Amino acid sequence: MAIWNLGSINADMVYSLPHFPAAGETLAATGFDRFLGGKGANMSVAAARAGSHVAHIGAVGADGSWSIRRLMEYGVDTRHIVQVPEPTGQALVFVDPTGENQIVILPGANRAIPETAIQAALAEAAAGDTLLIQNETNAQAMAARIGRDLGLRVAYAAAPFEATAVLAVLAFLDLLILNEIEAQQLQQATGQAPEALRVRDVIVTLGARGARHIDTGTGEIRDYPAIPVTPVDTTGAGDTFTGYVLAGLDRGMALPQAISQAMRAAAIMVTRHGTADVIPDLRDVQESRL
Ligand code: ATP
Repeated sequence: MAIWNLGSINADMVYSLPHFPAAGETLAATGFDRFLGGKGANMSVAAARAGSHVAHIGAVGADGSWSIRRLMEYGVDTRHIVQVPEPTGQALVFVDPTGENQIVILPGANRAIPETAIQAALAEAAAGDTLLIQNETNAQAMAARIGRDLGLRVAYAAAPFEATAVLAVLAFLDLLILNEIEAQQLQQATGQAPEALRVRDVIVTLGARGARHIDTGTGEIRDYPAIPVTPVDTTGAGDTFTGYVLAGLDRGMALPQAISQAMRAAAIMVTRHGTADVIPDLRDVQESRL
């Protein structure tokens, strides 16, 4: 089995600043770091660390070969990441001395993935594989439709939230994962509670309060309490959770077990600073006492 992840790849450029710049101000940064980021890349790394074969489908610019190398080092199949004329996606992150941040996203290549590249990648997928999509790329509905037609498990992480993007893929989904705010936004947009959606399984993550699984077929709702930890940085918790849930399912776990393991991985993740580079692997999860 395999996970095909149509997803974003970003260079997270983090600048430490003495204060946020005012309009017209020029400011010298006191520190700089570049990390691999983007929800897609984070989820690919999480699912690979959770033991699945993950093929990332995406695009970078001429400046993006380092990100492909990094994904490869993390065990992700990068054969379907293509190079396009647009720049590699970026997240410019300004951090002030109090830890407050301001973020500017440049979608760049992430919104310019050639449809032919997506079709070529999915032509290698087999029934029973998983297709994962988030809202940081182009061609989400096209990919979801192909996934459904091929008999893949089609999963959508509705972040960053946009009602039109969710509605465009909803009919093709087996699994929808959203956080609490996204679930409220979807309910406002559709007038329907998550349990009324025509998606077999809906998972709503609740941050430090855990997660809720809604089986829309049986109407059963199951709450999973969060694992108590002292968080230092919650960035990437949701991406780690999603990657682990899908890897668990891909590797034959039942959904409750996959969710429980994903919650342990996400709990470890919030005790670490950083994103893709520090996502826990299966051994971390199994050896932790959480
Ligand atoms: P982010 O955008 O910060 O990556 P998200 O909003 O998509 O996250 P959350 O609901 O915040 O997703 O978190 C996902 C999962 O991570 C939760 O369901 C929970 O299992 C775990 N988690 C998040 N925060 C905590 C915490 N403080 N303590 C323990 N587990 C946590």
